[in-house]
Amino acid sequence: RAKSEGRNVYRFFEPGMDAMVRARRALETDLEAALPRREFELDFQPIMNIASSEIVGAEALMRWRSPIRGLVPPDDFIPVAEEIGLIVPLGEWALRKACTVAAGWPRGLRIAVNVSAVQIKSGTFARSVISALAFSGVPADRLELEITETVLMDESDTVLKTLRQLRNLGIRIALDDFGTGYSSLGYLRRFPVDKIKIDRSFIRDIDNRDTAAIVRTVIGLGAQLGITVTAEGVETEAQLEFLRKESCVEAQGYLIGVPSKATDIQRLLKASVALSQSG
Ligand code: C2E
Ligand code: MG
Ligand code: MG
Ligand code: MG
Repeated sequence: RAKSEGRNVYRFFEPGMDAMVRARRALETDLEAALPRREFELDFQPIMNIASSEIVGAEALMRWRSPIRGLVPPDDFIPVAEEIGLIVPLGEWALRKACTVAAGWPRGLRIAVNVSAVQIKSGTFARSVISALAFSGVPADRLELEITETVLMDESDTVLKTLRQLRNLGIRIALDDFGTGYSSLGYLRRFPVDKIKIDRSFIRDIDNRDTAAIVRTVIGLGAQLGITVTAEGVETEAQLEFLRKESCVEAQGYLIGVPSKATDIQRLLKASVALSQSG
C-alpha cells in the first residue's frame, strides 16, 4: 500500500517502519523463549492494614530478567505478552508460583495476583486458578485477583460469569488502578468487587485539595459499599497520616515496603506476625 502512495512516501517511511517492526519481532521472539528459559521472576510487595499497622498480605509483581535486555519492568512486556497470547501461559505460571510462595507464609496472610483481561477471556482461566490453589494448598479465601476496569468493560457474559464463579469459591476480586479508567462507578454496580485499590497517581497528588476530596470520597464509598479500600503508592508519612485520618483500610507503597524477593518477604511476614502476636 505504501508503494501505491508514491515513491517518496515509500522511501520516507519504509526504513524506520522496518526497524520498528524488526525490533518488535525480536522482542516477541525473546519473550516467547523467556518462559521455557525461566527468565521470569516474581517480587512481592507487602500490604498493610492501616488501623492495626499489621501486614495483611503481599502483591506479586512480575519481572523479566532477560540476559540480553536486563531487568525488564512489567509495563514494558505485559502488553506485548497480551497481544501475542503469551499472557495466558505466563499468567498461569505467575498464579502457580505466587500461590506456591504464599503457601509458606504465616496463616491468614493474603496473596494478590494481577490478571489481565486476555487471561480471563481465555476460557481456561477458572480452571487454572483452581489448579494453582490445589497445587499449592493455599485456601481460596487467601487469594486475591487484581483486575482493572478494562476487564469489567468486556461486553460478553463469559468474563462476569468466570469472575462470579471464582468469587463463589471464596476468591477475592480487587479493582486495581481505581480512578484511572472510564466510569468506575458503573462497573461497581455491574460486578461486586471485594476491594478497590486507589491508583497511586491520586496518592502522589494528595496535597491538592481536589485530589484529597476525591480520595476521601472513594474511601467513604468503600465504607458504604462494604468494600476494602487500599491506597497504592504510599511513599510518605504525611500521605499515610492523611489515609489513617480518613479511615482508609489498607496501604501499599515504598513507605511500607518495596517489592522484594520471595525469601525477603517471607522473613518480613513472619516477623510481622510474631510482632503482632507478642504485642
Ligand atoms: P499494579 O498492579 O498497579 O502494581 C503496582 C505498581 O506500583 C508496581 O509497579 C509497584 O512496583 C509500583 N509501586 C508500588 N509502590 C510504589 C510507590 O510507593 N511508588 C511508586 N512510584 N511505585 C510504587 P510494577 O511492578 O512496575 O508493575 C506495573 C504493573 O504491571 C502493575 O501495576 C500491573 O498492572 C502489571 N503487572 C505486574 N505483574 C503482573 C502480572 O503478574 N500479571 C499481569 N497481568 N500484570 C502484572
Ligand atoms: Mg496490582
Ligand atoms: Mg495499581
Ligand atoms: Mg497497573
